[in-house]
Amino acid sequence: MKIAIIGSGAMGCLYGGLLAEGGNEVYLIDIWKEHVDTINEKGLNIKGLTGERVISNIKATTDSKEIGKVELALVFVKSTSTGEAARENKDVVDENTVVLTLQNGLGNLEKLMQVWDSSVIAGTTAHGATLIGPGSILHAGQGKTIIGEVSGLATKRIEWIQKVFNDSRIDTDISDNVMGLIWDKLLVNIGINAITALTGLRNGQLLEHEETEWILEEAVKEAFQIAQLKGIRLHYEDPIAHTKDVCRATAENKASMLQDVIHKRETEIKMINGAIADEAEKYGVITPVNKLLTNLILMKEKLYEIV
Ligand code: NAD
Repeated sequence: MKIAIIGSGAMGCLYGGLLAEGGNEVYLIDIWKEHVDTINEKGLNIKGLTGERVISNIKATTDSKEIGKVELALVFVKSTSTGEAARENKDVVDENTVVLTLQNGLGNLEKLMQVWDSSVIAGTTAHGATLIGPGSILHAGQGKTIIGEVSGLATKRIEWIQKVFNDSRIDTDISDNVMGLIWDKLLVNIGINAITALTGLRNGQLLEHEETEWILEEAVKEAFQIAQLKGIRLHYEDPIAHTKDVCRATAENKASMLQDVIHKRETEIKMINGAIADEAEKYGVITPVNKLLTNLILMKEKLYEIV
């Protein structure tokens, strides 16, 4: 299968690397020239859970016009860049292309559909990866990929993507409730990411302090209320208990938002806790804990240049 990865950082390189090893023709698209040049000169280096190796049968580019049309476009930019990345790389997609987002946060699906309409499908991933440097990533966490049509139908194209993924060591299921999946993951990120980024704690440590555990519970409770108002069908009856289970299962992880603030990078806060505060406003409800967490992280970002 001919595949383009739009946004080839930690996760894009992980999926791109596994799909190339599975025998697919993979093109990594990224705006980071040094990273692209390193991959083309030395191959893509992957360390961690799936073993250390260099993948050479993979091409990288900053100019997607070189690639032509692809059968699958997998979007893995940060959710802050989704609209822009879709517009810049729209030429790799035609009516036969499937566009898949496995990004975190709210709004990615909608932004991609504005550019590519019904070509877009979505899902979530329980894999984790970290960028080590140009051309090099660490595969840090492993788990299911779940994908679904917005309509909930089990179409031929989604079964085809599932097979290509499973054949490439990406363990993949199909769901008929993709919005539920996105919100399941959103609620977990709401309970973990911002609090770790503000405190410097690892995921498991959030449960060792009554103060952080309380914030986690209140943030998820507010988001759960908004999910119910929107009629989202979640897969977990008790999302607070589920978020705590994730904290325990990933106890040693430094959440991606914590890594972002350590490296003074823009975070996805507006599409995570911020999205809940925005959705709440539409229903005339307030979600003060999520609004506070959002503003504290936004202040941290503003102060990167000053302190
Ligand atoms: P990342 O920052 O490592 O990678 C994003 C890449 O996109 C960067 O290399 C950047 O240069 C590139 N980019 C930015 N704008 C672009 C554009 N216009 N065109 C092409 N490339 C562009 O991010 P990541 O950690 O790989 O995360 C990607 C998404 O996956 C996020 O939504 C994140 O929340 C989600 N996610 C991450 C993990 C993880 O463990 N890292 C796990 C699950 C989900």
